[in-house]
Amino acid sequence: MATARALASSREDNDMKIAFIGLGNMGGGMAANLVKAGYEVRAFDLSEEALIAAKDAGCETFDTAREACAEAEAVVSMLPSSGIVKAVYTKDVIGHAPHTAVLIDCSTIDVATAREVADAAHAEGYKMVDAPVSGGIAAAAGGTLTFMVGGEHHAFDAAQPILAAMGKAVIHAGHIGAGQTAKICNNMLLAITMIGTSEAMTMAEKLGLDPQKFYEISSQSSGYNWSLNAYTPMPGVGVESPADKDYAGGFATALMVKDLRLAMEAAEGAGAAVPLASRAAALYEDYLGAGNEAVDFSGIIKTYS
Ligand code: NAD
Repeated sequence: MATARALASSREDNDMKIAFIGLGNMGGGMAANLVKAGYEVRAFDLSEEALIAAKDAGCETFDTAREACAEAEAVVSMLPSSGIVKAVYTKDVIGHAPHTAVLIDCSTIDVATAREVADAAHAEGYKMVDAPVSGGIAAAAGGTLTFMVGGEHHAFDAAQPILAAMGKAVIHAGHIGAGQTAKICNNMLLAITMIGTSEAMTMAEKLGLDPQKFYEISSQSSGYNWSLNAYTPMPGVGVESPADKDYAGGFATALMVKDLRLAMEAAEGAGAAVPLASRAAALYEDYLGAGNEAVDFSGIIKTYS
């Protein structure tokens, strides 16, 4: 694990050139933090609005990904989907960025595509890591993301100081694809604990127990878990959370469903038994289908009342 602040501040005079592709909700803040750490950021996004914001944050902007990658010593991407990551890397990054550059994909994508893109990069002599993140838009803007990184040691070593400038923790998970594996398994567990917590809190209340009393007891007993203790899904109970803002902000249900779909696909590919996660994924699909795309994922507790 890197000491992000120390590494970031030691880089204030760094003039390393980093291409950044995908300057949306997450990438915009991340690119701005690279600028703050002293890197020369060469930004590209399909959205004009995103490019204007990146320029305001101190990035140099380009009309194509290829131009942004030319001369880059590192390429960082934060893109919406597996298909887009594959297309951007195979068409515009591999063979266009200098072969000495380290390629860092921070998007959440499927494990197989992460490995496929890295194979194509390795074949051309590039170092590459998959480095998905834990933490939302506020953590991206605040430079407090957690990165889970898959890749060979020399690729991790090259990527680590760059990631440390955007986060509070950079953890080497293993070989290429291990970052994506960690991310989807973590979020699969999160979906299960959120649903379990929602069921237990609602049932306690229906049985006449004060939900705050249940929180006080269970958060210090064997029911202890992050969804209950750090993200209590019932308004006015436990810690302050999106539940207290009518489930606004936080982690959108659409993103949870995206991660659960990736997890279900990976489980099938690996022959892993995931009966609880399958049920959690189905419940989140139903919740999404009921018009809750932008609602925080803890809002699923409302379906139990
Ligand atoms: P977003 O939609 O806000 O941003 C994606 C950006 O990519 C957009 O600006 C879009 O214009 C750009 N883009 C799309 N295709 C492109 C292309 N071919 N070339 C260049 N730019 C292109 O999404 P986001 O919320 O920033 O999420 C990005 C990634 O981070 C996703 O993989 C998501 O799953 C992951 N993630 C998001 C969060 C979150 O809270 N938003 C948290 C953890 C991980």
